[in-house]
Amino acid sequence: MTVIMDGRALADKMQENLRKEVLNMKASGIVPGLAVLLVGEDPASQTYVRNKERSGEKIGIHSVVERLPAAISEEELFQKIQQYNQDEKIHGILVQLPLPKHIDEQRVLHGIDPKKDVDGFHPTNMGQLFIGDPWMVPCTPYGIMKLLEEYKIDISGKNAVIIGRSNIVGKPMAQLLLMSNATVTMAHSKTENLTQIAAKADILVVAIGRGHFVTKNFVKKGAVVIDVGMNRDADGKLIGDVDFDAVKEVAGYITPVPKGVGPMTITMLMEQTIANARKQLENT
Ligand code: NAP
Repeated sequence: MTVIMDGRALADKMQENLRKEVLNMKASGIVPGLAVLLVGEDPASQTYVRNKERSGEKIGIHSVVERLPAAISEEELFQKIQQYNQDEKIHGILVQLPLPKHIDEQRVLHGIDPKKDVDGFHPTNMGQLFIGDPWMVPCTPYGIMKLLEEYKIDISGKNAVIIGRSNIVGKPMAQLLLMSNATVTMAHSKTENLTQIAAKADILVVAIGRGHFVTKNFVKKGAVVIDVGMNRDADGKLIGDVDFDAVKEVAGYITPVPKGVGPMTITMLMEQTIANARKQLENT
């Protein structure tokens, strides 16, 4: 029988533990703080930021959301980041992507203090991850690793195929699986024989942004299928990159969309913010 990997349930469990930890930290005089910078009015970004705000409130961290106009200059945004880099009450800084076209995303991300870079996108954090000594890890792949751990998925020696090679999901996912001794194949839009390559995977991670792209014939019987995609169908319904109903007939384990990877991403953001505050507490 196929196991549905319930990201919502694991996220709730982890967030409840984090809430208790924050209560203890508050008693010791430290409140973990997260600053989220949202530029412009992109509806999807606004929803993501609202969800992060809600989780922060639930857990009890101090969260500041800066809603900035789309016309803000790169320099002004950079200055805002510097302000939070200096702020001792802030342990995590996140700039919601994408940014408006006139702003150089990489320059902005470089401006975040790597120690407060709870999204893990700063080149220092990327570098640390790729030399196998991670500090802050991109939250989506980090959350996926927690899900695999929760469901006791054996990774060592297994064939893992990742479809999608973005800096925020595919590449760090490959590295995390490699660090857990998987044999990793990365596929992308130029990959030839994608279906056959995917069908060899014991663990298949799909992060491409195309609704229901992965069908039954991409999946080996009993494989673990992780669907990162978040797409809207013609009726505006949220759907994954994987055709869930068809693929669950062959997969051994599968994440749904929604309630799969998404809630884990936010949880790892909270976890890394709190871990940073914990470090500050340990150093006082
Ligand atoms: P991205 O930066 O747009 O990258 C997409 C990747 O998919 C690229 O590497 C691209 O290949 C590859 N690709 C596109 N079409 C393909 C095809 N037909 N066959 C094979 N590969 C193909 O996307 P992303 O930021 O990684 O996000 C991917 C999806 O995950 C989106 O739906 C996004 O909304 C979702 N997401 C969800 C969460 C969450 O928390 N659940 C977090 C982040 C992202 P090339 O490199 O060759 O162009």
